[in-house]
Amino acid sequence: MNGFELYNTTRLVFGEGKIDKLGELIQPFGKRVLLVYGGGSIKKFGLYEQVKNKLSAMGATVEELSGIEPNPRLSTVNEGIRICRENDIQFILAIGGGSVIDAAKAIAAGALYDGDVWDFTIGKAVIQQALPLGTLLTLAATGSEMNGGAVITNLETKQKRTMGSKLLYPKFSIVDPTYTLTVPANQTVNGIVDIMSHVFEQYFSQTPSTPLQDRFAEGILLTVIENGERVLANSQDYDARANLLLAGTYAMNGTLPTGVTADWATHVIEHEVSAIYDIPHGEGLAILFPNWMKYVYKERLEKFVQYAVRVWNVETTGKTEDEIALEGIYATQSYFKKLGAPTCLGEVGIDNTYFERMANEAVQFGKIGNFKKLYKEDVLRILELSM
Ligand code: NAP
Ligand code: FE
Repeated sequence: MNGFELYNTTRLVFGEGKIDKLGELIQPFGKRVLLVYGGGSIKKFGLYEQVKNKLSAMGATVEELSGIEPNPRLSTVNEGIRICRENDIQFILAIGGGSVIDAAKAIAAGALYDGDVWDFTIGKAVIQQALPLGTLLTLAATGSEMNGGAVITNLETKQKRTMGSKLLYPKFSIVDPTYTLTVPANQTVNGIVDIMSHVFEQYFSQTPSTPLQDRFAEGILLTVIENGERVLANSQDYDARANLLLAGTYAMNGTLPTGVTADWATHVIEHEVSAIYDIPHGEGLAILFPNWMKYVYKERLEKFVQYAVRVWNVETTGKTEDEIALEGIYATQSYFKKLGAPTCLGEVGIDNTYFERMANEAVQFGKIGNFKKLYKEDVLRILELSM
């Protein structure tokens, strides 16, 4: 196991009706608030109204930035930065899924920076200060509610890049499972795939002797598989929605990579795909991850055997390790397919036109991944396998 530090500063406020604490949670940071949300789902299910009432009860002055796109755009982030500066905003409240939360984080960092906020994604500048932000999560997927990462798309250059800082951890996140009861089946599936992919990125590691981390990861995977199916069978199943949410948060709140060298190559490749084609993150991952697995599993066969046996109950009698590992990988792919996720790039209208570009961009800062180090040729190979 590697040495590590775990210091997560987000106050996680979980459960039905926890919105009652909103005023108390924002109070320490000030009363000039920027509300950030997406395309209107929160208005449909009544959350917008509730939040406005709470903010008005605490005497807050509220500015709004709506219409945050799935795969949030740099141009929208810049609009948020402008609003913050012009109104001397003291606190940002994000209501939505990962896209809304990520946009709010980028706005928080950009508002207190003199240069272009894109600088933080290309290593040109390091985030030195940020406005405080809080979230009301409405979708189980990214874990952005309890981490310091944000993924932003620059449509002009067709680049999707990540920024991150301890300063971007939300001060609090209210996670109320009832807010997710309206998430449609396709977004629920995208969330399930994203959560499982986050676990894969941290589970498939070369770091030896990590039994507790492995069982945390397998526990999250089993919880997601079980409760994901329950949610898809009955979208109003509160307990299953709650279990999915908690799994999503724990998959990305810094617990899994303690003492472990994580991978993240598949996320890097997916960002290149969705930067050009603007497909949902979960769809890209459902296509790419099983193919990454097929490409790399021999690098540490016993880990993939463990995965097949513990997560998919693969029968071992009379089989070689290679067969067992591959069965686990096919079980993953079949599960995604059963959920209704795409399994190849062609299914979402992507051909090989931009493979060269995607591969070049993926490795532009050097080789990616740790389970197996991937160079441009490897990325191309995985994209071809995903056709
Ligand atoms: P999302 O892009 O935030 O939302 C997808 C769709 O779901 C939107 O159309 C949204 O509608 C809708 N939606 C959200 N909550 C809903 C609800 N309760 N009822 C009905 N519809 C609802 O999805 P996401 O998967 O959470 O976020 C994806 C983004 O996060 C990608 O850009 C990805 O790269 C990034 N990401 C970030 C991290 C991180 O740690 N920061 C990790 C992985 C991925 P509205 O617009 O109307 O709300
Ligand atoms: Fe993700």
